[in-house]
Amino acid sequence: MYEIEIISSFAAAHSLRQYKGKCERLHGHNYRVHVTARSSAPKSDGMVMDFGDFKGVTNGILDQLDHRFLNEIKPFDEIEPSAENIAAFIFREIEQGMKERGHLLHSVGVWESDTSVARYIRG
Ligand SMILES: [Zn+2]
Repeated sequence: MYEIEIISSFAAAHSLRQYKGKCERLHGHNYRVHVTARSSAPKSDGMVMDFGDFKGVTNGILDQLDHRFLNEIKPFDEIEPSAENIAAFIFREIEQGMKERGHLLHSVGVWESDTSVARYIRG
């Protein structure tokens, strides 16, 4: 099995509406995003997928979130903008954006800090 990983980031504000504590208040994170794709065999060009294409799709999604108040944009106007929900959202968006190679997407990890990550993994 091969796994490739790209690392990107975005900055955004959020507040967790249902949280009782300081995370209920408006605050921000410099989110780090780790995205992996897996394949049992690379393509004939020797790659699981082109890093440039992988980064292009991912950064296109993250641009939609960058420097935004997440609670005001879909789907986080209706669901909590937790790291878990952000990871699942990014996963689904990248999967669609990668079209025929979307099935190779394996996981999206959203780091709120250097010590806290929520990861959505293809189940
Ligand atoms: Zn937070």
